[in-house]
Amino acid sequence: MSKKIEIGSAIAEPGRIAEGNIFVEKLAGGSELTIPVTIINGSKPGPCFWINGGIHGDEPEGILTCTLLKEKINPDDLSGSIVMIPVMNVPAMEAAERGNPLDTFSYDMNRIYPGKKDGYLSERIAHVHKEWMIKYADMEISIHSGGAHSYLAEAMFAAKDDKTQELARAMGEDWKVCLYSNITSKSPMAVMAENGKPALTVELGGRSSTAPGAFLKVGQTLLKACINILTHYKMIEGTPHYPEIRHKGFQQALLAPKSGVFLPNPNIKFLTMMKKNDEIAKIIDYQGKELCTLKAPEDGMFFGLRALPNVTIGDWCCFYAIIEGEW
Ligand SMILES: [Zn+2]
Repeated sequence: MSKKIEIGSAIAEPGRIAEGNIFVEKLAGGSELTIPVTIINGSKPGPCFWINGGIHGDEPEGILTCTLLKEKINPDDLSGSIVMIPVMNVPAMEAAERGNPLDTFSYDMNRIYPGKKDGYLSERIAHVHKEWMIKYADMEISIHSGGAHSYLAEAMFAAKDDKTQELARAMGEDWKVCLYSNITSKSPMAVMAENGKPALTVELGGRSSTAPGAFLKVGQTLLKACINILTHYKMIEGTPHYPEIRHKGFQQALLAPKSGVFLPNPNIKFLTMMKKNDEIAKIIDYQGKELCTLKAPEDGMFFGLRALPNVTIGDWCCFYAIIEGEW
């Protein structure tokens, strides 16, 4: 028999789903800043799989994933528990901005973990969230996307140790790119790693993938990965699937060398190996004159592009992964 789980106001007995909120601070108008939480507590014992979404307020893919997963999982069939935080950074999500507009001092909440009890507002949110996560989570994924500025294809960032790479592989057949992460990234993943627990930063979707079918497809792909993790760790019944190849490498930001309009080479595809100096895109000026071509800096693949082709010199215009080999 599993045990009761209590997080904030959510109290889930074994075999039950509970929803609630984690209190952070009170705001001037009398409202409370809280973090929504859903607990699916399986009737049988097992690990706690913790899913975070919405640390960046322009990335609602985690909300959709948690919604789909909640519909799918029956706690009677679950060994262990699933804790879902669909939105970590509520003021940012309400404003549809990357960071919390009430706190411009620690705007990017994915760079301030483990947070601070008496720090800036976002640090306080991070601190409260971290305390609960470390208390319960055995493994964690944070769901991200390209947000308002970009589209990102299936890619993840993770530490290199075996336990973390087992979790990365458990994401399943759609996830062929796992990039090194810097353990000092000050993300929830980094805090988990410092506590010896596997964690991933997962990227999929963004502004150019929000059409009705496209957004749902992003959610379904992430749902499929979550189900596969549950299957791999024997939290639910089923046969897990794995990618045939898992590429390893690191990210390199490709910045626009000129201002203008970014025209991707129509013959190249996301997550497909390219050779050094292969053409990724041309940049043209407003009268159609070609200003430059953007070339692959090394052998690798691109996994993300800006949502809008308008670029200014120095803009991050392409998410490129330099591939060093296979895991
Ligand atoms: Zn993000």
